[in-house]
Amino acid sequence: MSVTHYDWLDHHAERVPEKEVWVDLHSNRHFTYAEANDRALRLAFHFQENCGIGKGDRVGVLAMNSTDMLEIQAACAKIGAIFLPLNWRLTVSELDFIIRDAGPKILIYDTQFASEISELKEKTGVQHTLETSGGGGNTPYEAAIQAANPTPRLATVTHDDVWTIMYTSGTTGLPKGAMNTYGMAFYNAVNLGIPTYFTPNAKTLTILPLFHTGGLNCYSSVALYFGGTTLVMRAFDPGECLRLINDEEIGLTHFFGVPANYLFMSQHPVFATTDFSRLACSGVGGAPTPVPLLETYKARGLALQQGYGMTETSPTVTVQDAEMAFSRPGSAGKLALNAEARIVDENGVDVPRGKTGELWVKGPNITPGYWNRPEANAETITDGWLHTGDACRVDEDGHYFVVDRWKDMYISGGENVYPAEIESILFKMPEIADLAIIGVPDARWDEVGCAVIVVAPGKQLTADDVILFCQDKLARYKIPKHVVFMDELPRNATGKVLKRVLKDEIGDLERVN
Ligand code: ATP
Ligand code: MG
Repeated sequence: MSVTHYDWLDHHAERVPEKEVWVDLHSNRHFTYAEANDRALRLAFHFQENCGIGKGDRVGVLAMNSTDMLEIQAACAKIGAIFLPLNWRLTVSELDFIIRDAGPKILIYDTQFASEISELKEKTGVQHTLETSGGGGNTPYEAAIQAANPTPRLATVTHDDVWTIMYTSGTTGLPKGAMNTYGMAFYNAVNLGIPTYFTPNAKTLTILPLFHTGGLNCYSSVALYFGGTTLVMRAFDPGECLRLINDEEIGLTHFFGVPANYLFMSQHPVFATTDFSRLACSGVGGAPTPVPLLETYKARGLALQQGYGMTETSPTVTVQDAEMAFSRPGSAGKLALNAEARIVDENGVDVPRGKTGELWVKGPNITPGYWNRPEANAETITDGWLHTGDACRVDEDGHYFVVDRWKDMYISGGENVYPAEIESILFKMPEIADLAIIGVPDARWDEVGCAVIVVAPGKQLTADDVILFCQDKLARYKIPKHVVFMDELPRNATGKVLKRVLKDEIGDLERVN
């Protein structure tokens, strides 16, 4: 028998109606649980009565971060509809593909994407559209909420029903729509909430895009489950993040970012004077975190709690406890409560503890599959075990170390090289502001490393300096043979380096050495 999903927003609206659930920083709108629940009910009514949306129907959203996104997802839960947040950084033809594939009955959009939407409406024949500003005011979205009644016919939803189709970050190729069920959201709230010290007093800041799991589930959905408060930032601004963390009156307790967010915050002038002491948890994950970056924060007294996860795993798989963060630098922590993991070789056979292999994960936090992608599902999930595509090892005490993505590993003279290890060494150079290592073809060694470097403002750096720095720190085959200088690295919406784009671009650039 499947387990019923209980409406988290409605529950807290009953218990603590006057408490704040969401704050939209851009428009300075504050919503109590009671207000947010009322708006979500009205929106659900609008979907049902005016757009014929029912259980299992998709509700597409193309918008910058705002509390509207969270309210739309909550409205979907009331009637069992599926929330489909779309990445506004995709091109119209990429969006066209996704919209045809997922077939939403309505597209809610930010005013600034009006021309893309009219093109998409024409191409895909989507029935309904609704314009918002992402900041309240006199918009069709607000008018629809005001005109509706807070009395939709509520649907019964279970843990097996899909709440969100969440696209992967598109770091390694085209994003895939992972079905995220209500059960996955529930287990993530528990699995992530416990090791990150969530309580109903939690106040978290969301800076990552809400159309990816890092934004939606780290930690806003966890805060909703616990009855806490989420502040939503329209787009990541390092100085503004530091200001909010420092603000005693706001009293943020939780912050999550990918390594790039922490890197850019550490390079901001305000970093040196920010008081991080009020944060109960500062989480990092989504990409390899260079140890020198962890040390930069350690020097300011902040233990970054590294976690590992994927869109397909809702996302939490492992989380580091704050007290272990300094003693196991670089570890992504221990396995979450309701999850199983194995580390296997290329034949799916478990490797001995301590050896590197591919991480496979199983549990109630795992996606039932990608939307409309039977081949990808067959390739990715075997007997409930999700193949993560990530190289990982576990130490004697059960601490997980994510080595790198298999796809980013390259083989130089027969030796496996994991770029993340070299990045961790090179990030110690103060002249380096940003960095990525990729494998490039080589006649003698098959592949060799290429360091792509952004030099810190006002600093000088040569390829020789870089190679010399590695000399006594890395085995010869790991030392990059080429160095390329760039003004900026290509990153996706989440802030992850797009190594596939770099590999294409590097072909056109002059490599030093
Ligand atoms: P796509 O699947 O479209 O290529 P993506 O894998 O970047 O994009 P996400 O689901 O957002 O999409 O990210 C999950 C991936 O992020 C993991 O598979 C892993 O490669 C990486 N990752 C997550 N946490 C960590 C971590 N702590 N250390 C290293 N890598 C991590
Ligand atoms: Mg992936």
